[in-house]
Amino acid sequence: MLRLQNIQTYYGNIQALKDVTIDIEEGEIVTLIGANGAGKTTTLMSISGITPPRRGEIFFRGSPIHQMKPEAIVKLGICQVPEGRRIFPDMSVVENLEMGAFLRNDKANIKSDLEMVFDLFPILEQRRTQSGGTLSGGEQQMLAISRALMARPRLLLLDEPSLGLAPLIIQQIFEIIKKINQESGTTIFLVEQNANQALKLANRGYVMENGRITLVDDASALLENDDVRKAYLGL
Ligand code: ATP
Repeated sequence: MLRLQNIQTYYGNIQALKDVTIDIEEGEIVTLIGANGAGKTTTLMSISGITPPRRGEIFFRGSPIHQMKPEAIVKLGICQVPEGRRIFPDMSVVENLEMGAFLRNDKANIKSDLEMVFDLFPILEQRRTQSGGTLSGGEQQMLAISRALMARPRLLLLDEPSLGLAPLIIQQIFEIIKKINQESGTTIFLVEQNANQALKLANRGYVMENGRITLVDDASALLENDDVRKAYLGL
């Protein structure tokens, strides 16, 4: 479904990604783990066209997207939930969700999609008129994921959804990510520092160090890998 082929992404003279190749099949949950500053966020920004690669290619369902604008990439069905959530704090929950559907052509289905996200996250329905900025961290993460779902993505890019959240809330959010994948077949690419939880959820995983992919395997194999256990699982 998605192929990153030897991409190299820069911030000015700083090379953040060095020959990164990643393949994601339709319907999979794939995780990208790595330490702070490894290049995980840059990988997502390269896919979504916000920080396009200087060299290399990105294909979505066989077509090149690495020279497309971010809005065009969203329209293809690739939607990113950014790190730190970035909801609109002064807009209500419902207004935030409607913004997620902004680029869609089939506005008629928006109402039923609102019901779909309220089914996934009932707390958001209770808070529907509350402004986004007054929600707890976990609720804001739920809102950020729901807002992306309102765009009806085929591929959902999640940047550290567990960041700064309590363990119970993280578990809840990861269960819902699994449900989104299972019920609607949405393909998930999950960037995480919480390697343990991410590898338990994913089918396959990539490990990134200093802008390079150093390992790729089934998530269950990575959980058993001695290097991964030492470096990322604290075992
Ligand atoms: P984190 O978990 O902290 O978000 P990450 O794995 O997502 O880390 P990136 O944010 O992709 O890593 O950063 C990769 C490298 O690029 C780092 O060395 C970082 O300092 C650098 N970098 C990231 N954003 C910028 C920027 N806007 N300008 C310059 N350098 C940047």
